[in-house]
Amino acid sequence: MNRMSSCIFCKIIKGDIPSFKLFESDKTFAFLDINPLSKGHALVIPKHHGEKLADIPDDSLTELLPVAKKIAIALGATNYNILQNNGRLAHQEVDHVHVHIIPKPNEAEGLGVKWPQQKIDMGELKALAEEIKSKM
Ligand code: AMP
Ligand code: ZN
Repeated sequence: MNRMSSCIFCKIIKGDIPSFKLFESDKTFAFLDINPLSKGHALVIPKHHGEKLADIPDDSLTELLPVAKKIAIALGATNYNILQNNGRLAHQEVDHVHVHIIPKPNEAEGLGVKWPQQKIDMGELKALAEEIKSKM
């Protein structure tokens, strides 16, 4: 069995595994997260199977944010996080690209974020920007 046929989100798209669907188009699918961090926690996925963001062609990415926006508006969420995890260290558990919409109704529910800011030398920051730009 290849990765695509064993992928839980590909099975959800095909309807082989049930989901609470919120949106579907030719290239995009959205549904409620089964273990929500808060009420209304939802996922938007490209129908194109790919493990990480860089594995998805640009034309399969175009609807992800607009659909996340529609869902955030429908939820009436005023505080929320849009999150897309890549790789185990970065908390990715399902290896099919997905964008989380996570309402943050209070301190206890929703996404908990650590934000360990570092001090960096401006020269180093400038050199880093140049290096990244040269590779884009
Ligand atoms: P991540 O840690 O970014 O890979 O998030 C994967 C998300 O998928 C988690 O929030 C899970 O609760 C959610 N999830 C896993 N299986 C299902 C499923 N069958 N239906 C809905 N959501 C799911
Ligand atoms: Zn998949």
